[in-house]
Amino acid sequence: MRQPTVYLLSCGDELLFGHTVDTNSAWLAEQCTLLGWRIAGHRTVGDVTPDIIMAFLDATARADAVILTGGLGPTMDDRTRQALAHALGAELREDREALTEIQAMFRRFNRPMGENNRVQALIPDGAERIVNPNGTAPGIKATLQGAKVFCMPGVPREMREMFRLSVAPVLREAEGRAHEVMRRLHLCGRGEADIGAAIRHLMRERSNPEVGTAVAESIVTVRLYAKGETPAEAEKTAAEAEAGIRAVLEDDVFGTDGETLAACVIGLLKERGARLVTAESCTGGMLSSLLVDVPGASAVFVEGTVAYANEAKIGLLGVPRETLEKHGAVSRGTAAAMAEGALRRLRANGPAYSLATTGIAGPDGGTPEKPVGTVWIACSVLDAEGKGMTRSVRHNWAADRQGIRMRGANAALDLLRRTLLGRPSNYPVEGSAWERP
Ligand code: AMP
Ligand code: MG
Repeated sequence: MRQPTVYLLSCGDELLFGHTVDTNSAWLAEQCTLLGWRIAGHRTVGDVTPDIIMAFLDATARADAVILTGGLGPTMDDRTRQALAHALGAELREDREALTEIQAMFRRFNRPMGENNRVQALIPDGAERIVNPNGTAPGIKATLQGAKVFCMPGVPREMREMFRLSVAPVLREAEGRAHEVMRRLHLCGRGEADIGAAIRHLMRERSNPEVGTAVAESIVTVRLYAKGETPAEAEKTAAEAEAGIRAVLEDDVFGTDGETLAACVIGLLKERGARLVTAESCTGGMLSSLLVDVPGASAVFVEGTVAYANEAKIGLLGVPRETLEKHGAVSRGTAAAMAEGALRRLRANGPAYSLATTGIAGPDGGTPEKPVGTVWIACSVLDAEGKGMTRSVRHNWAADRQGIRMRGANAALDLLRRTLLGRPSNYPVEGSAWERP
């Protein structure tokens, strides 16, 4: 039986010019794939009525379903409903229920409804509205050239909820869907090439499952995509492949699918009843932010200090002025003193860990000895007796300012994770003992 196909259209000048990244198509492609549909193609069109009409006609000729996002707003530059009506050869008419819903949404937001919002209740004759629980613009469902067409607003939060409630159930009814399982395993602290070499025997082209890797800000993701005649068979193939990958990569895998490195670290600290503090220079709060992204972080995360200038490193964290003068702000000594200073601020109360970052994020400020991208990470642990141990690692990354800072934050979390698990680092680690007076 032929696998059903879906064509994804995104609409908006901001996407065409590159001001907004088309995350909707990426998300929809993954969702449709998981529902067993094949992606026939992606296309972005600007806010130009004839272009949208052509895109509708072309996509509906190529696929069993077309999903378009964007262009359903109340402003003059949103032209999806006119274009769809034109492609259908239908008139736009005001949908009373849609109007009632839009009015109710404005009452809920306690805002007066502008006259231009009325156009959002217009639906082409013969089409149906799709309820939008999160916003004012209803979606539209129609049939064009035998293909199902779904139009949804561009706002990702509105689009996703609408897809789950009203589009996914329709896609699920199609015959010939493949049963597929997509799983991602995440690793940090090892290069993509190194990981790829370790699992190369699993990365055969057009095999089942298909295994591939990707990397973003030092986090390597191994992706596996398994197919089967039934959901159970696809799951079995995926589970076997996952076990094969884990057998090789072991504890280097910190999480699956949506699990983050910060969530993994917080989980490990919780198990140990330990607390965490941070002292950040070049990452400027990113590390704390990654930790606070995790619901329930307050059970372990106590405080984060951003000590950017030397005076702050001395004043807030007690970094010795001599260390800064002799070794510089980006040095093992400074990173270690920051991590230890952050722990000294804590009242003694069970085991505690700290993470410190200091580096040269660029684009200026590099020297031959300390080029841009040099980042020192320190992780310190203080036990209940006041005895401390600090492990420091020097990294160097070729990336832009944002990239260096993100990698610094991830490397800090990775060092803590490896410390908690007693796992070796792939980088030379320098250790030093200290004591809290
Ligand atoms: P629209 O439905 O065209 O009024 O889009 C509303 C907003 O959603 C736009 O201003 C964008 O910020 C966002 N948006 C639209 N299309 C996309 C897309 N494909 N991916 C991510 N965001 C989008
Ligand atoms: Mg728009």
